[in-house]
This record gives sequence, structure tokens and C-alpha cells, in this order.
Amino acid sequence: MHFSTLSNIVLFLQICFVLASNAPMEISQEMREHFMRETFTALGSPCPRYPFGTVIVNHTATPPKIICKGHNMNNIHNAYPQLHGEMAAIIECTKVLGTSGGWKDLSLYTNAEACPMCASAIRWAGFKEYIYGTSIKTLIDHNWVQIEISSHEVFQKSETLKSETAIIGSVLTSETDPLFAWQFSAHGQCPHGCMEVPRPGRGRCVPEDIGLEL
Ligand SMILES: [Zn+2]
Repeated sequence: MHFSTLSNIVLFLQICFVLASNAPMEISQEMREHFMRETFTALGSPCPRYPFGTVIVNHTATPPKIICKGHNMNNIHNAYPQLHGEMAAIIECTKVLGTSGGWKDLSLYTNAEACPMCASAIRWAGFKEYIYGTSIKTLIDHNWVQIEISSHEVFQKSETLKSETAIIGSVLTSETDPLFAWQFSAHGQCPHGCMEVPRPGRGRCVPEDIGLEL
């Protein structure tokens, strides 16, 4: 191969790389929903009482990959009041990323809108994107106790931060909303993969494989 031809090929590849790295991320709704479903895998059960799950994804990798996961760990006597799913996932990612950071390349998917604490942590970290499923309003409609400050309000009041984080809400709510519909509401259906077995103080939706043994 002639040297100049080889040089042109290398230059072409370099241009492609630069264009690709500067191009805005165009992520299909199908892929958004795929990673939102991945938040369910962080839960360990189809119907936990506190089904808040998070995955943190690097969409700039080929193919996009999950860096870390987290789920709500504040379900034992309020022992870890700060360990909501988002915070647990961020802590896991800190272990993976070390001191190199890299948050600006990552997208945080969480199956319910972040509370003000977690939304603030997302902004302080400087994530590229934050994607949620069920809204705080819907949680309140299902009788969940919530601090009534939306992520959008937290973001609006974070504009002096140097980083920017895109926010995308209400992704795959047809599957995330049922996760939160039964715990504090007598009429909410059990999520897919669960069956109703009333047990005082222990919730009334249990995984089907457990329920059939009771
Ligand atoms: Zn939170």
C-alpha cells in the first residue's frame, strides 16, 4: 500500500473518531426501556417492599454497558437512611471508577424519580443524563411518603453548577408504576411475577414461586 494512501486512511479514521466522540448521543426509546428494565435486576425480587433500583450506564462504550447497580438498602430499621437506590449505585460506581471520576460520561437510570437528596447527588456528581420511570407524584398517589420536591425543581436550582445533566422522565412507566402500586394501597395490583398472599406486616404481594409454597 502506498504511504500516502495509508496516511489518508488513518486521517479518515481519526476524523471519524472525533466526529463520533463529539456527536450528541442519540439513544433509541427501545434502548432507554432496555436499561430501565435493568433497574429491576438490581432488586433481587419482582415485588420487594421497597423496589427502588438504579443502574448506571456508559452509553459511550460499544456496546453500551452497565457500570454498577444499586437498590434501596434503607429497609432495616432505618439503619441506612441515605442508602436509597441511587446513592447505593453511586457508591458502587465510586468503587469501580476510583479517583478517576468520569461521571460526565455516565447515565443514571432509576425506576422512580429521585428524591431531593439523590437528585442533588446526581447533580453534584455531574452525570451526563438522569433517566427515571415513576414520578414522585405517582408515588404520592399510591400513599408513599415523599419529600414533595421534584427532580426538575432541584435541577432548575442547580444551574450555577459547572456541569450539565440532561433529565428524562416517565420512561417505561407501564412497568415501573406497578412496582409501587401495592405496598400502601389496598387496591393496587401485584406486579408481574408476583401473587397476592396477605400476610400481616409483611406485605401482601410475594413472588409466585414463594407464594405457591405457602
Ligand atoms: Zn433518594
